[in-house]
Amino acid sequence: MDDADRDATPSDDAARRELVDGLRRRLDVDERTLAAIEAVPRHLFVPERHRSRAYADRPLPIGHDQTISAPHMVALMTDLLDVEPGDRVFEVGTGCGYHAAVVAEIVGARNVYSVEYVPDLAEAARDRLHRLGYDVTVRAGDGRTAFPDEPPFDAAYLTCAPTGGTPDSIVDRVRTGGRVVAPVGRAGGQRLVRLTVTEGAVDREDHGGVRFVPMQ
Ligand code: SAH
Repeated sequence: MDDADRDATPSDDAARRELVDGLRRRLDVDERTLAAIEAVPRHLFVPERHRSRAYADRPLPIGHDQTISAPHMVALMTDLLDVEPGDRVFEVGTGCGYHAAVVAEIVGARNVYSVEYVPDLAEAARDRLHRLGYDVTVRAGDGRTAFPDEPPFDAAYLTCAPTGGTPDSIVDRVRTGGRVVAPVGRAGGQRLVRLTVTEGAVDREDHGGVRFVPMQ
């Protein structure tokens, strides 16, 4: 019996299905996104003491004053990324690794590159992802300067909010035609935006008010 078998009970699976059914009713997102949420054992990404609440649609603390986003927010952001199997994705803010695992379900784990500012969180997320079979590349560092040698990504997203706009150094990592999904702005007035990189310009769509931890 491996770790995942030991830790997954029928009630976790049932609770996760119920969560996904709720998201399907409330959100206008692709079935592929919902299938990714259904595939990832969120209870194995949250601290032991919060496991009983892993399938409530709410954010939870993950230590170091950081939080794992609510499932509906992960679903919405993943859907806005509009990625296909094989696309290469850059994540800024690994946190516990949950959102990276959801995206990995769609594009393949080897195509996900994630950077986390807090070294302890980066190390824990890397171990957890690899133990669960997600071969995501996780580095500790600042999203503005991470993975300098990687070729342009098809998409990028931030799970922390820059107070100015999305840093150019992150937008510049995405190919023409690619997308960047990010919460931007100061606490109390953050908006979720999707940027589409076009030849010589960036198109911006607003997707509503959100609440994320600030980008360091
Ligand atoms: N996607 C995560 C959510 C993590 S919360 C999950 O599923 O758990 C946002 C994370 O962004 C925090 O862990 C925080 O430490 C990290 N962060 C903040 N500023 C950052 C920066 N400049 N570069 C990289 N990560 C950053």
